[in-house]
Amino acid sequence: MRRYRSTKIVATLGPASTSAKTIRALFEAGADVFRFNFSHGDHADHQARHDIVRALERETGRPIAIMADLQGPKLRVGTFPDGPIELVAGQRFRLELAKGPGTRDRVTLPHPEIFAAIGVGTELLLDDGKIRLRVVKLSKRVAETEVIAGGPLSDRKGVNVPNAVLPLSALTDKDRTDLAFALDMGADWIALSFVQRPEDVAEARKLIAGRAAVLVKLEKPAAIDKLEEIVEIADAVMVARGDLGVELPPEQVPPIQKRIVRLCRALGKPVIVATQMLDSMVASPAPTRAEASDVATAVYDSADAVMLSAETAAGKYPVESVTMMDRIIQRVEADDFYLAAALAEHAVPEKTVSDAITLAAREVAETIGARCIVTYTTSGSTTIRASRERPAVPILCITSSLVTARRLAMAWGVHAIHIAHEERFSAVVQHATALAKRDEFAVSGDKVVITAGVPMGTPGSTNVLRIERIP
Ligand code: PGA
Ligand code: MN
Repeated sequence: MRRYRSTKIVATLGPASTSAKTIRALFEAGADVFRFNFSHGDHADHQARHDIVRALERETGRPIAIMADLQGPKLRVGTFPDGPIELVAGQRFRLELAKGPGTRDRVTLPHPEIFAAIGVGTELLLDDGKIRLRVVKLSKRVAETEVIAGGPLSDRKGVNVPNAVLPLSALTDKDRTDLAFALDMGADWIALSFVQRPEDVAEARKLIAGRAAVLVKLEKPAAIDKLEEIVEIADAVMVARGDLGVELPPEQVPPIQKRIVRLCRALGKPVIVATQMLDSMVASPAPTRAEASDVATAVYDSADAVMLSAETAAGKYPVESVTMMDRIIQRVEADDFYLAAALAEHAVPEKTVSDAITLAAREVAETIGARCIVTYTTSGSTTIRASRERPAVPILCITSSLVTARRLAMAWGVHAIHIAHEERFSAVVQHATALAKRDEFAVSGDKVVITAGVPMGTPGSTNVLRIERIP
């Protein structure tokens, strides 16, 4: 089974996608990566979905990536035991460190760091920026605010403080517990939320210790200020437009999205464009024209993946959302302009053997009309470099590491296949042609381009390029 597109789809699982039947339908419709959102659900929910995904993987023989998305230091208000309140512009409203029920006049804000980092005049954004409060009086435990923009406020809504670098660790106690659980469960990617500094990534990387790849969510202005440094030390990144668009004015998000995608393309880091892509499909079976265009733009820009959040986690049309995304991607990728513009723009190779071989593989494949490029890899690093080349033909990644095969489900153009370890290059060549044929990338008589490292099995040792005809 293969996909007829290069751009990948990340689908978030949630209450609307808990059954084996739905998860299977999402996969068949086109989901390549499943995102487990640790802001919602308990460990038993995640474990149950994990077991379903892994069973599906065994049954279909297709490696699937699981991304555990940690909540991060997302600030939230407390609860309103008597139900949601309605805030009105001009009224006073108190945020208090002290516990206690939320009322029309006050709510708990259980984060002492905020009270230390804000001042009179600071604006606080609640519920994804729908509600705006301005601090008029402040003590160590109480912020008295004036409501600038009102609206309904209910339990545990998020709080953003755009213009402050909060002295918060990127990992809360909950994140540490969730991280340990996610690693034991067998997540392939760990997504870090609200990263502010490169040190936040380094700290998480130490705890993860190579057990999963590290994805950085870019959703804080502070992280954009240090973009190059942060992308360098990430394995992949997400343009997390939901929170980014609350922390910054909306008109600043598109240029930043383009800048991040360009940078990731240059550095060869997989990049996901995320959030609200088909948001109206939470409640409606068809997207707006603007949403379809948003997905298309990310594909034209040559992002590695596009993501669905509430659409698949909590919406009424989870499978239809994936189907729609798949259709939009396939249509863009069939456009002459995409092939001419997006794929003609190649990143400058680094002066390494691996880049020399992967660049040559793309050129050879294009020159002789080969059907695909096959990379035999252990760590997956050569395959990521091949993906960075954005060749016009698919990349078959053959690997004896199931971990590598799963992680690469995120990467543009890569179709990974897990096989037993091979000592002999001749056996790898045989696998390459047989698997290219089996998975319908080529037929007898077609040519494929194969890259590998000889002798076999030393990670990062790609040094061979071979052209082979399918028997
Ligand atoms: P979230 O992250 O869905 O976990 O908030 C994505 C975003 O902010 O866009
Ligand atoms: Mn977010």
